[in-house]
Amino acid sequence: MVRVFILLSLLFGTFKAQGNVDLQNWQQGAIGYHLNYFQEDDTPLTWQQAQRTFNSRSTFRSAGQSLSLGIGVAPVWLKATLVNNTETPIDYRMSVETPWLDYIDTYLVHNGELVAHIAGGDGYPFDQRPMAHRYYSFDYSYAPGQTDVFIRIDSAGPMAIPIHLSRTALAQTRDIRAGYEYGVLYGIMLALALYNFILFINIKQAEFGLYSLYLIGFIANSLSYTGQIHAVFTPDFGPYFQDWVDIFLMITYSVVGLLFARKVLNTQHYAPTLDKVTLGFATIIPAGMVIGAVINSLFLSMILAFLLNTSFAVLFIILGIRALKARVDSAKLFLVSSVTAAICIAISTGAVAGIFPLNDVTFKLIEVGMAFEAVVLAVLLAQRFRSAQQDKLIAEHVAQTDELTQLFNRRGFRQRCDLVFDKDIHEHRDIAILLIDIDKFKSINDTYGHAGGDAVLESVAKCISSHKRGDRHIYARWGGEEFIVYLSGVSQHEAEREAESLRARIESLITEFRGIQLSVTISVGVSGSNGMSYNGEPLSMVSIESIINQADIAMYDAKISGGNQICSQYLLVPSMA
Ligand code: GH3
Ligand code: MG
Ligand code: MG
Repeated sequence: MVRVFILLSLLFGTFKAQGNVDLQNWQQGAIGYHLNYFQEDDTPLTWQQAQRTFNSRSTFRSAGQSLSLGIGVAPVWLKATLVNNTETPIDYRMSVETPWLDYIDTYLVHNGELVAHIAGGDGYPFDQRPMAHRYYSFDYSYAPGQTDVFIRIDSAGPMAIPIHLSRTALAQTRDIRAGYEYGVLYGIMLALALYNFILFINIKQAEFGLYSLYLIGFIANSLSYTGQIHAVFTPDFGPYFQDWVDIFLMITYSVVGLLFARKVLNTQHYAPTLDKVTLGFATIIPAGMVIGAVINSLFLSMILAFLLNTSFAVLFIILGIRALKARVDSAKLFLVSSVTAAICIAISTGAVAGIFPLNDVTFKLIEVGMAFEAVVLAVLLAQRFRSAQQDKLIAEHVAQTDELTQLFNRRGFRQRCDLVFDKDIHEHRDIAILLIDIDKFKSINDTYGHAGGDAVLESVAKCISSHKRGDRHIYARWGGEEFIVYLSGVSQHEAEREAESLRARIESLITEFRGIQLSVTISVGVSGSNGMSYNGEPLSMVSIESIINQADIAMYDAKISGGNQICSQYLLVPSMA
């Protein structure tokens, strides 16, 4: 790995490397192309020894705007020459923009003399660093003439070294802008996280909770690798704590992300092995890291953290592709978001590793990618929410509807009645119930078969409901060959007229069945309440129950009297008041 980078350095270095930094024309930017470097063998060198090495043997030129040498490598010395061709000193801020580098020593040499030694890095307690900044940064006023900058970096973590040199005033502006940018990014993430957490609390579906944690994990991770967590929240906790916090925060979003992905894509149902592998990555690697913490091996835990984060991006895409094959609804959006995020992460990582040009855009692309992913996944969850809602409505409709006649069934009738009845009573409206039973229906079944009976039931149902006079009337199949009608705002007289008209219409109704004309008659029981007689007190369902019973008795009377007639029974229904 290191050799590849060195080879790349040589290849690109010859084309791109530039010599001294001309301060007169330098405003701000990464100074990668102006750097020479070499790595220490065994013994630590002084700056003079390093200077001699730079002078004597051919050292390497940096391959890109950022230098990257791999993980757990020997300390590196870097050299840049800054030339101030003006008459006055110029103020610059120099920053090494990866916050995890442990020990960074910069030696500024002017006319062969050491004029400053600035020690800092993640290995120092926050208050002992050159500046209260999330990166190793220092301000210095470069005198006219040539200043050689020697930087020694010693770190256990990934040796990615993007060095930024900026006029001090511009550096301050850039910091403020970065503050706003992170504010916007974290603001979006936090709002989405909070919203989905509220959804999770209310509808208790794991994916909303996991998504919310995923976003929080991303924010924690971002705060950590951009150095903000220690600059803002934990400056007093010391380097040891910070190292460990960083690598555990680093994996939070990968772990929760994998759990979220397998849940939202239902991986378990069509790819149980992949599901287990995913679960394995999300649990065994963190467990290994905990063991690393117990035996105090930062290196082991760090390697595992990088392994998890790399496999996370790959697994995310594999999970998406597998879901797409299994025709999971959410798969497309999931893939769009995860591939975009992976590309952004690859570009940012590649920029820090010196493979792509390093600038504020490529450096922050990782955050843009993650924000994009967060928004797309929120859309995905919203779509699931909507389809779950639609499924629920369909299920409700099915549960309330009689399959044969498409009228309400008994459950649908009761639920609709719940809504209408109380209101009718409260508003002093008369209501009536018609209970309808087909006469001698069994003989239809016996003669023409069940299908003949069904055909009659359908046409009778249609005839009953076709007489609809408004939304407040309810038509339902009460069971078997019985139907029920709830009439709202209808007096006893009107209800009886309605029942008689219905009876007459059914009597003349002809049902065509396999070329045969079938006809039936009905018996109708009528009952109801006079809205004014209950002092405006709402009646409970017990009362509608007794009205129905009354109608049933009336219907029975009609049957006993020979059928094909209506019978009405209006009794005073006991008030609940
Ligand atoms: P009555 O005049 O006393 O009402 O006699 P009936 O034959 O109409 O009443 P009974 O309750 O004896 O018979 C009702 C029949 O309705 C019995 C049952 O098989 C039939 N039935 C119930 N549901 C359905 C259905 O969905 N389709 C068909 N085809 N028949 C049904
Ligand atoms: Mg019956
Ligand atoms: Mg009957």
